[in-house]
Amino acid sequence: MGAPGVGKGTQAKKIMEAWGIPQISTGDILRDNRTRGTELGRQAKQSMDEGKLVPDDLVNRMVADRLAAPDVVRGYILDGYPRTLGQARWLDELLSGKGAPGGSLPVIAVSLAVGYNQLLHRITGRRICPACQRTYNIYLQPPKSDTVCDVDGAPLVQRADDAEQVFHERMRTYESLTAPVLAHYRQSGRLVEVNGDQSVDGVSAEILKAVEGLRRQRSSAAER
Ligand code: AMP
Repeated sequence: MGAPGVGKGTQAKKIMEAWGIPQISTGDILRDNRTRGTELGRQAKQSMDEGKLVPDDLVNRMVADRLAAPDVVRGYILDGYPRTLGQARWLDELLSGKGAPGGSLPVIAVSLAVGYNQLLHRITGRRICPACQRTYNIYLQPPKSDTVCDVDGAPLVQRADDAEQVFHERMRTYESLTAPVLAHYRQSGRLVEVNGDQSVDGVSAEILKAVEGLRRQRSSAAER
């Protein structure tokens, strides 16, 4: 979990490699539905373009469908979900039943924190190559030539919701809706908080260590 631009996607990919478990990004699934012009994509479009959250029931159903796939049996990383208290409670309910996806492993929430101005640069500077999906940042990691991809020369594009005005709205949404989700996991001893303002590898190492530590702590408490 974390505000837009905090590095959730980057870290999810690192953990996916480290633990060999799939990354499930609700933002990516929604964008894919929009590209394919599905009914779900059509329903999500307006909220996404305005930097608002897509209604809980749509996202919850989408996550339930994804967790029915066989590749989640050894665990999985939810990237960008849950984002509201309603989603967090719904997920706890889904996972409390017998035969829940991922077996008996408890959900552990990882919260990444980075300062506001740093996030603003990370988000509004982000550019993507539409051909190879490589990501650049015009402030922090610019392409060799101003506006085109280093690899294939395609003109880089900006995600519509990375515009500055939408960024501020996404931050407001994040702060108002996600704070109670953090409290939910904190209260139940399932939250680890990591400083996201360090090298990518530094952040991943801290996440892996913190999650493993919390798992050990919880399983020894369960044995007592
Ligand atoms: P992301 O790529 O995670 O920043 O998500 C992009 C957009 O997709 C968000 O601004 C929301 O409009 C929507 N979205 C992604 N995940 C969720 C979620 N868990 N709940 C509601 N809306 C979501």
